[in-house]
Amino acid sequence: MKALQYVSVGQPPEVRDVPIPAPGPGEVLLRVTAAGACHSDSFVMGLTEDQYSAFGYPLPMTLGHEAVGVVEELGSGASGISVGDPVAVYGPQGCGRCHSCARGVENYCPHAADLQIYPPGLGKDGAMAEYMIVEDPRLLIPLGELDPVATVALTDAGLTPYHAIKGSLDVLIPGSVAVVIGVGGLGHMAVQLLRTLTGATVIALDISQTKLDFAREVGAHHAFLSDDQAGARITAAVGPGPVAAVFDFVTNEPVLKIARSLSGPLTDLVLVGAGSVETTVGLLGQPFGSRFRAPYWGSRPELMEVFELARTDQLRVETESFSLDQGPEAYRKLHDGELRGRAVVIP
Ligand code: NAD
Ligand code: ZN
Repeated sequence: MKALQYVSVGQPPEVRDVPIPAPGPGEVLLRVTAAGACHSDSFVMGLTEDQYSAFGYPLPMTLGHEAVGVVEELGSGASGISVGDPVAVYGPQGCGRCHSCARGVENYCPHAADLQIYPPGLGKDGAMAEYMIVEDPRLLIPLGELDPVATVALTDAGLTPYHAIKGSLDVLIPGSVAVVIGVGGLGHMAVQLLRTLTGATVIALDISQTKLDFAREVGAHHAFLSDDQAGARITAAVGPGPVAAVFDFVTNEPVLKIARSLSGPLTDLVLVGAGSVETTVGLLGQPFGSRFRAPYWGSRPELMEVFELARTDQLRVETESFSLDQGPEAYRKLHDGELRGRAVVIP
């Protein structure tokens, strides 16, 4: 079968011919119907040899951690689903046995790393191929009548902002202001989710004028360039005073500077982007009661909730479709900021 693989550090991904994997005991073989391209893949492919070896992901590795497909074959003992079922894959799987996993927050399983349990496409072969293996039927969410291409990105670009926003619902009261920094795959979902889940005024920031128009189209009340005037523009639009929450889908020095300038008592600074920045924290180093959070992906019940929002037309992913052969071009466009919404590869 064809697969889009990351083959050597620092080089673009390649379409290669690889064997169709066979499901082991308890596992499920999916025929992939759609796979999403995430900036986290670009982040991983942008690491140097030393940084990459710290992750320990073996290469070559098939990319893609957003996956939907149809059950093709069940390994011995796998039950609860049937051949032909359309399903979405829950990516941030945990050990499945501990207290966190029992609560559904497998994304925070404290044992996953030690047990070398990885999401598809981030440590083991992922979804950008004609077929993929899923370790356990519990990781599959029924897709029902939903369109695979239109919904595959809900598994990460939808789930991650949903989880990030749910953690701040206590401060996102009607009359509050929420800021979304970076209106790409995740950010355009965040804008819609804030409108659906809260009564906050939603302000989007991006470095691209096209993305600002896009942000308004998907529901932002205001959209401004992300530069050192951003704070002044926000004050002019909504008045002075701290914002309730900043959802940062970039995470670098300039963005954190903007985020901190907007914050005050009780502001949530939610750092979702894959970057990292040094900053001052502590009672006298940040506004009283403000919180920094670094949420990771989302829980299994939250993924079901996100699919429910899509099923009831309350959440919509903007997509651009690519074939597997066009996969490298999808990642180039993602890297160069040329996508509107999410790139979806259809094997
Ligand atoms: P994307 O490339 O689709 O979107 C990024 C957006 O940020 C683009 O619109 C770009 O123009 C904008 N941007 C870049 N620099 C900016 C700046 N200085 N100010 C404002 N906007 C700026 O990326 P994505 O797939 O949506 O991913 C967003 C980030 O979230 C990535 O860092 C990714 O690795 C990370 N991520 C984190 C998790 C998690 O679990 N925490 C999950 C998925 C993705
Ligand atoms: Zn991702």
